[in-house]
Amino acid sequence: MTVMAVFSTLTHRTLELYRKLFPIPCLLCGLPSQEDPLCQACAAELPLLGSACHRCAMPLESAQICGSCLKQPPISDHSFSLYRYEAAIKRCITSFKFHQQLQFADFFASRMQQQFALRDDLPDCLIPIPLHPLRLRQRGFNQAHEIARRLAQALNLQCQTGLLNRVRYTRSQSQLSFKQRRQNMRRAFVCCAESVPAHIAIIDDVMTSGHTTAEAAKVLQLHGAETIEVWTIARAISHY
Ligand SMILES: [Zn+2]
Ligand SMILES: [Zn+2]
Repeated sequence: MTVMAVFSTLTHRTLELYRKLFPIPCLLCGLPSQEDPLCQACAAELPLLGSACHRCAMPLESAQICGSCLKQPPISDHSFSLYRYEAAIKRCITSFKFHQQLQFADFFASRMQQQFALRDDLPDCLIPIPLHPLRLRQRGFNQAHEIARRLAQALNLQCQTGLLNRVRYTRSQSQLSFKQRRQNMRRAFVCCAESVPAHIAIIDDVMTSGHTTAEAAKVLQLHGAETIEVWTIARAISHY
């Protein structure tokens, strides 16, 4: 065993002991949680999205593609969301994004990884939706990048952050109507690469109207992306 391996094992054991002595309270119920930001019971009760439209991730009972995507197919070929964007998930994502609870990045990435681990047609690379540099400075980190780099490592894929830049400081989409959301995202991104891998997955935290990821997909398609997937933690279900 090398000195580094001994050091790493000792650090791991010390951390384990620390967590046993001082467990983290679960964000949702307050009961002690050994490792994750949620206890096992609350994690198991999170609202999984379940059966959904292959193209836009809107819940669907049986059909593969919803009527709206049949009528006007989105640029992305496939959209996946892990959860419905409901109260419990909102609290987790707010805590992750606005209260720097980065342990949620590990939590969400490991759960998303389980969904993709068995696929044999994974994308060439993951591309997180970038934040505008000003917003990145305010927040200190980009939640989509935190998820994407963990997920890329777990799935043995590349995480590319240099392909897409956010060039417009846009208002938060959550304050806007459906129509304003599309306007707000116009020309928000530019692609800085000469070519983009053929099969990509765009990573974001929440998919609401889908305008943010659609605008990114449009730019990446223009630069060579042929198959575009969108992977998000949660899908807002209300109709805009
Ligand atoms: Zn709990
Ligand atoms: Zn659809």
